[in-house]
Amino acid sequence: MTPPAVQDIVVAGGGYVGLSLALAVATSAPGTRITVVDIRPPADVSRDPRASAIAAAARRLLDTLGVWSAVAPLAQPIVDMVVTDSRLEDVVRPVFLTFDGQVEEGEPFAHMVPNGALVAALAARAAEAGVQVVAPDAVTDFSVDGGGVTVQLKSGGTIRARLLVAADGVKSRLRALAGIRTLTWSYGQSGIVTTIEHERPHGGRAEEHFLPSGPFATLPLTGNRSSLVWTERSDVADRLVKGDALVFEVELQRRIGHHLGAVRVVGPRHAYPLGLTLARDFVKPRLALIGDAAHGIHPIAGQGLNLGFRDVAALAEVLVEALRLGQDVGALDVLERYERWRRFDTWQMAAVTDVLNRLFSNDLAPVRMIRDFGLGLVDRMPRLKRAFIGEAAGSHKAQPRLLDGLEI
Ligand SMILES: Cc1cc2nc3c(=O)[nH]c(=O)nc-3n(C[C@H](O)[C@H](O)[C@H](O)COP(=O)(O)OP(=O)(O)OC[C@H]3O[C@@H](n4cnc5c(N)ncnc54)[C@H](O)[C@@H]3O)c2cc1C
Repeated sequence: MTPPAVQDIVVAGGGYVGLSLALAVATSAPGTRITVVDIRPPADVSRDPRASAIAAAARRLLDTLGVWSAVAPLAQPIVDMVVTDSRLEDVVRPVFLTFDGQVEEGEPFAHMVPNGALVAALAARAAEAGVQVVAPDAVTDFSVDGGGVTVQLKSGGTIRARLLVAADGVKSRLRALAGIRTLTWSYGQSGIVTTIEHERPHGGRAEEHFLPSGPFATLPLTGNRSSLVWTERSDVADRLVKGDALVFEVELQRRIGHHLGAVRVVGPRHAYPLGLTLARDFVKPRLALIGDAAHGIHPIAGQGLNLGFRDVAALAEVLVEALRLGQDVGALDVLERYERWRRFDTWQMAAVTDVLNRLFSNDLAPVRMIRDFGLGLVDRMPRLKRAFIGEAAGSHKAQPRLLDGLEI
Protein backbone atom coordinates (compact mmCIF):
# COMPACT_ATOMS: atom_id res chain seq x y z
CA MET A 1 0.00 0.00 0.00
CA THR A 2 1.11 3.64 -0.52
CA PRO A 3 2.45 5.00 2.76
CA PRO A 4 0.61 8.00 4.22
CA ALA A 5 2.57 11.31 4.14
CA VAL A 6 1.86 12.47 7.71
CA GLN A 7 1.43 10.34 10.86
CA ASP A 8 1.71 10.70 14.63
CA ILE A 9 3.85 7.59 15.12
CA VAL A 10 5.85 5.46 12.68
CA VAL A 11 7.01 2.03 13.90
CA ALA A 12 9.92 0.45 12.01
CA GLY A 13 9.52 -3.33 12.36
CA GLY A 14 6.29 -5.32 12.27
CA GLY A 15 7.38 -8.24 14.47
CA TYR A 16 5.54 -9.07 17.71
CA VAL A 17 6.89 -6.05 19.52
CA GLY A 18 6.32 -3.38 16.84
CA LEU A 19 2.79 -4.59 16.09
CA SER A 20 1.85 -4.85 19.79
CA LEU A 21 2.98 -1.30 20.47
CA ALA A 22 1.02 0.06 17.51
CA LEU A 23 -2.07 -1.91 18.59
CA ALA A 24 -1.78 -0.85 22.25
CA VAL A 25 -1.62 2.86 21.37
CA ALA A 26 -4.31 2.62 18.67
CA THR A 27 -6.80 0.90 21.01
CA SER A 28 -6.12 3.16 24.01
CA ALA A 29 -5.92 6.46 22.12
CA PRO A 30 -8.29 6.06 19.14
CA GLY A 31 -7.67 8.51 16.34
CA THR A 32 -3.88 8.41 16.73
CA ARG A 33 -2.37 7.98 13.27
CA ILE A 34 0.08 5.06 13.34
CA THR A 35 1.98 3.33 10.55
CA VAL A 36 4.05 0.14 10.89
CA VAL A 37 6.69 -0.54 8.21
CA ASP A 38 8.15 -4.04 7.80
CA ILE A 39 10.66 -5.53 5.39
CA ARG A 40 9.01 -8.93 5.20
CA PRO A 41 5.96 -9.63 3.03
CA PRO A 42 3.01 -10.36 5.41
CA ALA A 43 2.69 -13.96 4.15
CA ASP A 44 6.29 -14.75 5.26
CA VAL A 45 5.58 -13.66 8.81
CA SER A 46 2.67 -16.03 9.36
CA ARG A 47 4.78 -18.94 8.02
CA ASP A 48 7.34 -18.69 10.87
CA PRO A 49 7.45 -22.31 12.14
CA ARG A 50 8.96 -21.47 15.58
CA ALA A 51 7.17 -21.06 18.92
CA SER A 52 7.84 -18.84 21.95
CA ALA A 53 7.22 -19.12 25.67
CA ILE A 54 4.77 -16.32 26.48
CA ALA A 55 4.91 -15.42 30.19
CA ALA A 56 1.70 -14.81 32.19
CA ALA A 57 2.17 -11.01 32.19
CA ALA A 58 2.61 -10.93 28.40
CA ARG A 59 -0.48 -13.16 28.02
CA ARG A 60 -2.50 -10.65 30.07
CA LEU A 61 -1.31 -7.86 27.75
CA LEU A 62 -2.33 -9.89 24.68
CA ASP A 63 -5.69 -10.66 26.28
CA THR A 64 -6.37 -6.99 27.03
CA LEU A 65 -5.47 -6.10 23.44
CA GLY A 66 -7.99 -8.69 22.14
CA VAL A 67 -5.34 -10.97 20.61
CA TRP A 68 -5.18 -13.89 23.04
CA SER A 69 -8.54 -15.44 22.04
CA ALA A 70 -7.21 -15.90 18.48
CA VAL A 71 -4.14 -17.87 19.61
CA ALA A 72 -5.52 -19.59 22.73
CA PRO A 73 -6.63 -22.77 20.87
CA LEU A 74 -3.02 -23.22 19.67
CA ALA A 75 -1.38 -22.36 23.00
CA GLN A 76 0.02 -25.08 25.27
CA PRO A 77 0.16 -24.22 28.99
CA ILE A 78 3.42 -25.09 30.75
CA VAL A 79 2.17 -26.88 33.88
CA ASP A 80 5.52 -27.72 35.41
CA MET A 81 9.22 -27.54 34.76
CA VAL A 82 12.24 -29.68 35.64
CA VAL A 83 15.89 -28.65 35.58
CA THR A 84 18.80 -31.11 35.44
CA ASP A 85 22.56 -30.68 35.38
CA SER A 86 24.60 -33.49 33.87
CA ARG A 87 27.15 -34.55 31.29
CA LEU A 88 26.02 -35.92 27.95
CA GLU A 89 27.40 -39.40 28.70
CA ASP A 90 25.75 -39.63 32.16
CA VAL A 91 23.32 -42.56 32.26
CA VAL A 92 20.89 -40.84 34.63
CA ARG A 93 20.06 -37.15 34.80
CA PRO A 94 19.30 -36.34 38.43
CA VAL A 95 16.57 -33.72 38.72
CA PHE A 96 17.88 -30.79 40.75
CA LEU A 97 14.98 -28.41 40.56
CA THR A 98 11.25 -28.74 39.91
CA PHE A 99 8.72 -25.96 39.49
CA ASP A 100 4.97 -26.17 39.72
CA GLY A 101 4.00 -23.92 36.81
CA GLN A 102 1.13 -21.86 38.30
CA VAL A 103 1.70 -18.23 39.14
CA GLU A 104 -1.85 -17.80 40.47
CA GLU A 105 -4.61 -20.39 40.96
CA GLY A 106 -5.50 -21.55 37.43
CA GLU A 107 -2.97 -19.27 35.68
CA PRO A 108 0.09 -21.05 34.23
CA PHE A 109 3.32 -19.03 34.43
CA ALA A 110 3.75 -19.40 30.66
CA HIS A 111 2.24 -20.81 27.46
CA MET A 112 4.00 -21.99 24.34
CA VAL A 113 2.53 -20.16 21.34
CA PRO A 114 3.36 -20.62 17.62
CA ASN A 115 5.12 -17.47 16.36
CA GLY A 116 3.37 -17.36 12.99
CA ALA A 117 -0.11 -17.49 14.53
CA LEU A 118 0.77 -14.80 17.08
CA VAL A 119 2.15 -12.30 14.58
CA ALA A 120 -0.77 -12.96 12.19
CA ALA A 121 -3.28 -12.33 15.04
CA LEU A 122 -1.47 -9.13 16.06
CA ALA A 123 -1.45 -7.88 12.45
CA ALA A 124 -5.17 -8.62 12.03
CA ARG A 125 -6.13 -6.81 15.29
CA ALA A 126 -3.84 -3.87 14.48
CA ALA A 127 -5.52 -3.45 11.09
CA GLU A 128 -8.98 -3.55 12.77
CA ALA A 129 -7.82 -0.85 15.20
CA GLY A 130 -6.86 1.43 12.28
CA VAL A 131 -3.08 0.86 12.18
CA GLN A 132 -1.65 1.11 8.65
CA VAL A 133 0.84 -1.63 7.82
CA VAL A 134 3.23 -0.94 4.95
CA ALA A 135 4.97 -4.16 3.84
CA PRO A 136 7.18 -5.17 2.24
CA ASP A 137 9.16 -1.95 2.62
CA ALA A 138 11.90 -0.73 4.95
CA VAL A 139 12.93 2.34 6.88
CA THR A 140 16.33 3.23 5.42
CA ASP A 141 17.02 6.59 7.09
CA PHE A 142 15.48 9.37 9.14
CA SER A 143 16.19 12.96 10.11
CA VAL A 144 15.01 14.83 13.19
CA ASP A 145 14.21 18.52 13.52
CA GLY A 146 12.42 20.61 16.12
CA GLY A 147 8.95 19.86 14.77
CA GLY A 148 9.18 16.14 14.00
CA VAL A 149 10.97 13.32 12.24
CA THR A 150 11.11 12.59 8.50
CA VAL A 151 11.26 8.86 7.83
CA GLN A 152 12.79 7.66 4.57
CA LEU A 153 11.45 4.44 3.02
CA LYS A 154 13.26 2.03 0.70
CA SER A 155 10.41 2.37 -1.80
CA GLY A 156 11.34 6.04 -2.19
CA GLY A 157 8.56 7.67 -0.15
CA THR A 158 8.85 9.63 3.09
CA ILE A 159 6.57 9.85 6.13
CA ARG A 160 6.53 12.83 8.47
CA ALA A 161 5.74 11.94 12.10
CA ARG A 162 6.16 13.12 15.67
CA LEU A 163 7.80 9.89 16.86
CA LEU A 164 9.75 7.05 15.24
CA VAL A 165 9.81 3.76 17.17
CA ALA A 166 12.63 1.33 16.34
CA ALA A 167 11.30 -2.24 16.69
CA ASP A 168 13.62 -3.51 13.97
CA GLY A 169 15.29 -6.35 15.87
CA VAL A 170 18.66 -7.03 17.43
CA LYS A 171 20.69 -5.73 14.47
CA SER A 172 18.65 -2.49 14.48
CA ARG A 173 19.62 -0.22 11.61
CA LEU A 174 17.81 2.67 13.26
CA ARG A 175 19.83 2.30 16.46
CA ALA A 176 23.03 2.55 14.40
CA LEU A 177 21.73 5.51 12.39
CA ALA A 178 20.93 7.31 15.66
CA GLY A 179 24.52 6.75 16.82
CA ILE A 180 23.38 4.82 19.91
CA ARG A 181 26.26 2.69 21.19
CA THR A 182 25.74 -0.83 22.52
CA LEU A 183 27.33 -3.18 24.99
CA THR A 184 27.81 -6.26 22.81
CA TRP A 185 29.45 -9.64 23.03
CA SER A 186 29.03 -13.04 21.46
CA TYR A 187 28.63 -16.23 23.50
CA GLY A 188 30.26 -18.28 20.73
CA GLN A 189 27.12 -20.44 20.95
CA SER A 190 24.12 -20.85 18.68
CA GLY A 191 20.59 -21.87 19.59
CA ILE A 192 19.28 -24.70 17.41
CA VAL A 193 15.53 -24.38 17.08
CA THR A 194 13.12 -26.92 15.62
CA THR A 195 9.87 -28.78 16.34
CA ILE A 196 9.84 -32.43 17.36
CA GLU A 197 7.15 -35.07 17.63
CA HIS A 198 7.41 -37.81 20.27
CA GLU A 199 5.69 -41.10 20.97
CA ARG A 200 4.60 -40.27 24.54
CA PRO A 201 2.79 -37.18 25.85
CA HIS A 202 4.84 -34.43 27.54
CA GLY A 203 2.07 -33.74 30.08
CA GLY A 204 2.67 -29.99 29.72
CA ARG A 205 6.15 -30.30 31.22
CA ALA A 206 9.06 -28.09 30.12
CA GLU A 207 12.54 -29.52 30.63
CA GLU A 208 15.84 -27.70 30.75
CA HIS A 209 18.99 -29.83 30.83
CA PHE A 210 22.16 -27.94 31.61
CA LEU A 211 24.73 -29.75 29.50
CA PRO A 212 28.39 -28.68 29.25
CA SER A 213 27.86 -27.09 25.80
CA GLY A 214 24.89 -25.04 27.08
CA PRO A 215 21.21 -25.37 28.00
CA PHE A 216 19.07 -27.88 26.12
CA ALA A 217 15.35 -27.18 26.50
CA THR A 218 12.21 -28.99 25.35
CA LEU A 219 9.10 -26.85 25.61
CA PRO A 220 5.66 -28.46 25.22
CA LEU A 221 3.46 -27.70 22.22
CA THR A 222 -0.09 -28.92 21.60
CA GLY A 223 -0.35 -32.66 20.84
CA ASN A 224 2.67 -34.92 21.23
CA ARG A 225 5.00 -32.16 20.01
CA SER A 226 7.66 -29.99 21.63
CA SER A 227 9.72 -27.01 20.61
CA LEU A 228 13.45 -27.42 20.98
CA VAL A 229 16.02 -24.80 21.97
CA TRP A 230 19.38 -26.60 21.91
CA THR A 231 22.51 -24.60 22.62
CA GLU A 232 25.84 -25.71 21.13
CA ARG A 233 29.13 -24.11 20.15
CA SER A 234 28.35 -22.25 16.92
CA ASP A 235 30.52 -24.47 14.64
CA VAL A 236 28.92 -27.63 16.07
CA ALA A 237 25.41 -26.14 15.76
CA ASP A 238 26.02 -25.25 12.10
CA ARG A 239 27.24 -28.77 11.36
CA LEU A 240 24.21 -30.31 13.09
CA VAL A 241 21.71 -28.09 11.30
CA LYS A 242 23.22 -28.45 7.83
CA GLY A 243 24.16 -32.13 8.23
CA ASP A 244 22.32 -35.39 7.85
CA ALA A 245 18.81 -35.53 9.39
CA LEU A 246 19.44 -39.00 10.84
CA VAL A 247 22.62 -37.90 12.64
CA PHE A 248 20.67 -34.93 14.02
CA GLU A 249 17.92 -37.22 15.37
CA VAL A 250 20.44 -39.60 16.95
CA GLU A 251 22.22 -36.70 18.71
CA LEU A 252 18.84 -35.32 19.75
CA GLN A 253 17.70 -38.60 21.28
CA ARG A 254 20.98 -38.84 23.26
CA ARG A 255 20.19 -35.50 24.86
CA ILE A 256 16.46 -35.98 25.44
CA GLY A 257 16.69 -39.52 26.80
CA HIS A 258 13.90 -42.07 26.32
CA HIS A 259 11.07 -40.90 28.60
CA LEU A 260 9.21 -39.35 25.62
CA GLY A 261 9.70 -42.47 23.48
CA ALA A 262 11.01 -42.22 19.91
CA VAL A 263 11.51 -38.64 18.72
CA ARG A 264 11.13 -37.31 15.16
CA VAL A 265 12.04 -33.88 13.80
CA VAL A 266 8.99 -32.38 12.09
CA GLY A 267 10.06 -28.76 11.52
CA PRO A 268 12.90 -26.99 9.72
CA ARG A 269 16.20 -26.81 11.65
CA HIS A 270 17.69 -23.35 12.23
CA ALA A 271 20.69 -22.16 14.25
CA TYR A 272 20.67 -18.61 15.71
CA PRO A 273 24.01 -17.16 16.87
CA LEU A 274 23.65 -16.07 20.51
CA GLY A 275 25.01 -12.90 22.00
CA LEU A 276 24.25 -10.02 24.30
CA THR A 277 23.39 -6.61 22.86
CA LEU A 278 22.33 -3.81 25.19
CA ALA A 279 21.67 -0.31 23.88
CA ARG A 280 23.27 2.35 26.10
CA ASP A 281 20.30 4.65 25.47
CA PHE A 282 16.75 3.57 24.77
CA VAL A 283 15.62 7.02 23.60
CA LYS A 284 16.77 10.10 21.68
CA PRO A 285 14.65 13.08 20.67
CA ARG A 286 11.81 11.66 18.52
CA LEU A 287 13.18 8.10 18.66
CA ALA A 288 12.46 5.19 21.05
CA LEU A 289 13.98 1.69 20.89
CA ILE A 290 11.87 -1.31 21.94
CA GLY A 291 12.25 -5.10 21.93
CA ASP A 292 15.45 -6.62 20.58
CA ALA A 293 16.45 -3.25 19.09
CA ALA A 294 17.02 -2.19 22.72
CA HIS A 295 18.23 -5.54 24.13
CA GLY A 296 19.13 -8.96 22.76
CA ILE A 297 19.72 -11.54 25.51
CA HIS A 298 20.56 -15.25 25.81
CA PRO A 299 17.45 -17.49 25.48
CA ILE A 300 18.46 -19.53 28.57
CA ALA A 301 15.40 -18.24 30.46
CA GLY A 302 13.09 -17.76 27.42
CA GLN A 303 12.63 -14.10 28.35
CA GLY A 304 13.77 -12.08 25.27
CA LEU A 305 10.36 -11.52 23.76
CA ASN A 306 8.78 -11.11 27.19
CA LEU A 307 11.14 -8.22 27.90
CA GLY A 308 9.93 -6.76 24.60
CA PHE A 309 6.29 -7.02 25.72
CA ARG A 310 7.26 -5.22 28.93
CA ASP A 311 8.74 -2.41 26.80
CA VAL A 312 5.49 -2.28 24.82
CA ALA A 313 3.36 -1.97 27.95
CA ALA A 314 5.57 0.79 29.42
CA LEU A 315 6.02 2.84 26.22
CA ALA A 316 2.32 2.55 25.27
CA GLU A 317 1.29 3.79 28.74
CA VAL A 318 3.71 6.74 28.59
CA LEU A 319 2.60 7.69 25.05
CA VAL A 320 -1.12 7.35 25.75
CA GLU A 321 -0.84 9.50 28.90
CA ALA A 322 1.09 12.13 26.90
CA LEU A 323 -1.54 12.09 24.14
CA ARG A 324 -4.34 12.52 26.69
CA LEU A 325 -2.51 15.49 28.21
CA GLY A 326 -1.92 17.03 24.79
CA GLN A 327 1.88 16.59 25.09
CA ASP A 328 4.24 15.96 22.18
CA VAL A 329 4.86 12.16 22.03
CA GLY A 330 8.27 12.71 20.44
CA ALA A 331 9.57 15.09 23.13
CA LEU A 332 12.62 13.80 25.00
CA ASP A 333 11.14 14.38 28.48
CA VAL A 334 8.14 12.17 27.56
CA LEU A 335 10.36 9.42 26.14
CA GLU A 336 12.70 9.52 29.13
CA ARG A 337 9.81 8.37 31.36
CA TYR A 338 9.78 5.16 29.31
CA GLU A 339 13.56 4.78 29.54
CA ARG A 340 13.56 5.22 33.33
CA TRP A 341 10.80 2.63 33.67
CA ARG A 342 12.56 -0.02 31.58
CA ARG A 343 16.30 0.42 32.06
CA PHE A 344 16.83 -1.32 35.43
CA ASP A 345 14.63 -4.35 34.67
CA THR A 346 16.33 -4.83 31.29
CA TRP A 347 19.89 -4.62 32.62
CA GLN A 348 18.97 -6.92 35.51
CA MET A 349 17.54 -9.60 33.18
CA ALA A 350 20.55 -9.29 30.85
CA ALA A 351 22.91 -9.78 33.81
CA VAL A 352 20.95 -12.76 35.18
CA THR A 353 20.86 -14.58 31.82
CA ASP A 354 24.55 -13.81 31.22
CA VAL A 355 25.63 -15.18 34.63
CA LEU A 356 23.39 -18.26 34.34
CA ASN A 357 24.81 -19.11 30.94
CA ARG A 358 28.42 -18.70 32.13
CA LEU A 359 27.73 -20.71 35.28
CA PHE A 360 26.06 -23.63 33.50
CA SER A 361 27.75 -23.84 30.08
CA ASN A 362 30.88 -25.59 31.34
CA ASP A 363 32.07 -28.84 32.84
CA LEU A 364 34.45 -27.62 35.57
CA ALA A 365 34.09 -29.97 38.56
CA PRO A 366 34.23 -27.30 41.36
CA VAL A 367 31.74 -25.05 39.54
CA ARG A 368 29.47 -28.06 38.96
CA MET A 369 29.56 -28.94 42.67
CA ILE A 370 28.68 -25.43 43.79
CA ARG A 371 25.87 -24.96 41.27
CA ASP A 372 24.32 -28.37 41.99
CA PHE A 373 24.45 -27.64 45.71
CA GLY A 374 22.76 -24.27 44.99
CA LEU A 375 20.04 -25.86 42.82
CA GLY A 376 19.35 -28.52 45.47
CA LEU A 377 19.04 -25.81 48.10
CA VAL A 378 16.62 -23.75 46.01
CA ASP A 379 14.52 -26.87 45.41
CA ARG A 380 13.95 -27.12 49.19
CA MET A 381 12.82 -23.49 49.52
CA PRO A 382 9.20 -23.17 48.29
CA ARG A 383 9.06 -19.39 48.88
CA LEU A 384 12.17 -18.79 46.80
CA LYS A 385 10.79 -21.06 44.08
CA ARG A 386 7.56 -19.04 44.04
CA ALA A 387 9.63 -15.87 43.67
CA PHE A 388 11.44 -17.40 40.66
CA ILE A 389 8.15 -18.45 39.08
CA GLY A 390 6.77 -14.94 39.69
CA GLU A 391 9.85 -13.49 37.96
CA ALA A 392 9.53 -15.91 35.01
CA ALA A 393 5.84 -15.00 34.74
CA GLY A 394 6.81 -11.33 34.55
CA SER A 395 4.87 -10.32 37.68
CA HIS A 396 6.46 -7.21 39.19
CA LYS A 397 5.36 -4.47 41.54
CA ALA A 398 4.40 -1.12 39.96
CA GLN A 399 4.41 -2.59 36.48
CA PRO A 400 2.58 -1.07 33.48
CA ARG A 401 -1.18 -1.61 33.50
CA LEU A 402 -1.36 -3.87 30.43
CA LEU A 403 0.85 -6.45 32.19
CA ASP A 404 -1.74 -6.68 34.97
CA GLY A 405 -4.49 -7.16 32.36
CA LEU A 406 -5.80 -3.59 32.79
CA GLU A 407 -6.58 -1.15 30.00
CA ILE A 408 -4.44 1.99 29.84
C1 LIG B 1 16.91 -19.51 19.81
C2 LIG B 1 16.00 -18.46 20.39
C3 LIG B 1 14.90 -18.83 21.16
C4 LIG B 1 14.09 -17.87 21.76
N1 LIG B 1 13.02 -18.25 22.53
C5 LIG B 1 12.28 -17.31 23.19
C6 LIG B 1 11.18 -17.66 24.04
O1 LIG B 1 10.84 -18.82 24.21
N2 LIG B 1 10.52 -16.65 24.71
C7 LIG B 1 10.87 -15.34 24.53
O2 LIG B 1 10.29 -14.46 25.20
N3 LIG B 1 11.85 -14.97 23.68
C8 LIG B 1 12.57 -15.91 23.00
N4 LIG B 1 13.57 -15.54 22.16
C9 LIG B 1 13.79 -14.12 21.88
C10 LIG B 1 12.78 -13.58 20.84
O3 LIG B 1 12.82 -14.37 19.67
C11 LIG B 1 13.12 -12.13 20.50
O4 LIG B 1 13.30 -11.41 21.70
C12 LIG B 1 11.96 -11.50 19.69
O5 LIG B 1 11.90 -12.07 18.41
C13 LIG B 1 12.17 -9.98 19.55
O6 LIG B 1 11.06 -9.44 18.87
P1 LIG B 1 11.21 -8.05 18.10
O7 LIG B 1 9.85 -7.77 17.52
O8 LIG B 1 11.87 -7.05 18.99
O9 LIG B 1 12.27 -8.32 16.95
P2 LIG B 1 12.12 -9.29 15.66
O10 LIG B 1 11.25 -10.46 15.96
O11 LIG B 1 13.53 -9.55 15.22
O12 LIG B 1 11.37 -8.38 14.61
C14 LIG B 1 12.00 -7.30 13.96
C15 LIG B 1 11.16 -6.94 12.76
O13 LIG B 1 11.71 -5.77 12.14
C16 LIG B 1 11.71 -5.92 10.72
N5 LIG B 1 12.75 -5.00 10.24
C17 LIG B 1 14.09 -5.10 10.40
N6 LIG B 1 14.72 -4.02 9.89
C18 LIG B 1 13.73 -3.19 9.40
C19 LIG B 1 13.74 -1.93 8.75
N7 LIG B 1 14.88 -1.25 8.50
N8 LIG B 1 12.55 -1.39 8.36
C20 LIG B 1 11.39 -2.05 8.61
N9 LIG B 1 11.33 -3.26 9.22
C21 LIG B 1 12.49 -3.82 9.62
C22 LIG B 1 11.93 -7.40 10.51
O14 LIG B 1 11.42 -7.81 9.25
C23 LIG B 1 11.13 -8.02 11.68
O15 LIG B 1 9.79 -8.28 11.32
C24 LIG B 1 14.38 -16.50 21.54
C25 LIG B 1 15.46 -16.12 20.74
C26 LIG B 1 16.28 -17.10 20.17
C27 LIG B 1 17.45 -16.67 19.32
